[in-house]
Amino acid sequence: MGQSVLTTGFARVDGVMHCEGVSLERIAHDVGTPVYVYSAATIRDRYERLEKMLVSIPHRIHYTLKANSSRALLELLRSLGAGADVVSGGELHRALNAGFAPADVIFGGVGKTEREIAEALDAGILFLNAESEAEVRMIDRLAAARGIVANVSLRVNPEITLDAPHDYIKTGGRGHKFGIPYDEVVHVAELSAKLANVKLVGLDMHLGSQLSRIDPYREGTERLASIVAELARRGIRTLEYLDIGGGLGVRYDTEEPPDLRRFASIVLPTVAETGLMLIMEPGRFVVGNAGALVSQVLYRKRSGGKEYVVADAGMTELLRPSHYGAFHNIVAMRQRGDVRTVDVVGPVCESGDFLALNRDLDDVQPGDYIVIGDVGAYGYAMASNYNSRLRPAEVLVDGERYAIIAAREEYADLTRLEVARPDWIDAGEL
Ligand SMILES: *Cc1c(COP(=O)(O)O)cnc(C)c1O
Repeated sequence: MGQSVLTTGFARVDGVMHCEGVSLERIAHDVGTPVYVYSAATIRDRYERLEKMLVSIPHRIHYTLKANSSRALLELLRSLGAGADVVSGGELHRALNAGFAPADVIFGGVGKTEREIAEALDAGILFLNAESEAEVRMIDRLAAARGIVANVSLRVNPEITLDAPHDYIKTGGRGHKFGIPYDEVVHVAELSAKLANVKLVGLDMHLGSQLSRIDPYREGTERLASIVAELARRGIRTLEYLDIGGGLGVRYDTEEPPDLRRFASIVLPTVAETGLMLIMEPGRFVVGNAGALVSQVLYRKRSGGKEYVVADAGMTELLRPSHYGAFHNIVAMRQRGDVRTVDVVGPVCESGDFLALNRDLDDVQPGDYIVIGDVGAYGYAMASNYNSRLRPAEVLVDGERYAIIAAREEYADLTRLEVARPDWIDAGEL
């Protein structure tokens, strides 16, 4: 976070951390902590970088909601021209709620329910990415019941082994639960072509997340292109889209983010040869660097030779460190001069509740604020109420202005769905 405002949206101005033109200290005072703060300029910058990379061929960018589905961010991305990529009925609801036209929404996911597929068909989305033969048959049946023809794309498992930083974010390897095994795709495509209420409009893959190398995309795209050619040989010529998924990495620490110019020169020619429209489903790349989590230090303590900073945010607000072993930059709101090696932990009753281990950090004291960087993707979206903690507020900064885009939860939200006087049903057989 020592970088310029232009690359990250976050920088120190007169000793205090800022998001664009707004002091994060000001936001912490006004809104309280913990609070997620997003930089609109960073989101615009990342989106425009992708647009620029893809400008030479027909393409659509479908932002993946699961990275961050806050309405204001969705509206911002929609205003930039993005479509939406959803993986649940809930995300479809959010996308439509944020004003995406149904025809700008695609729907993926390995376990869509009948209800979710029906909702997608009723809304009239662009297409569903189907992940199995059984799902294609279910889509056909539900479309037939509605007297419509459903656009379907097949998610191919390209069976490419990755070097992503954590096993949980690899999705396109042989034996993973996602997609249709590579050698079964032609069979499922031929079946789809025969079904009366399904139109096969595309092929799709998603390799994994936080990828920094371009080669897996090249290999995967070549594999998809070879299936397109094979299908054409078999007389299937309905395809319109080649969806190469998301996964572009961002910088959290010292990683090299993917070289977009290289991406364009290596991947796009293969797509162009197919004559199909390219679709990308970026999540992390668009929002990852655009968010910071501001937290207040509650206590300092020492235990077993270790120094702890106990913050008012932990795994409930930001799960990535404990779930993926992920690294997030942490800095003091105001520098203290002295630096200590500390574990930054949260208040949750779990030893796995930490934000950073053995980290050099300014010698922050109770009451000080810390700023956890690059939390725009898979941050708030993975927040939970474990320990009956309240999910934090979210704030969007745009230049010199800021707005609360999601209120902090209140205690009443925790108990809202509970049934105070359960209505017992006698299910006895006699
Ligand atoms: C999660 C996901 C994405 C987005 O991945 P990022 O790494 O955030 O870009 C895209 N497509 C599918 C199918 C996904 O599951």
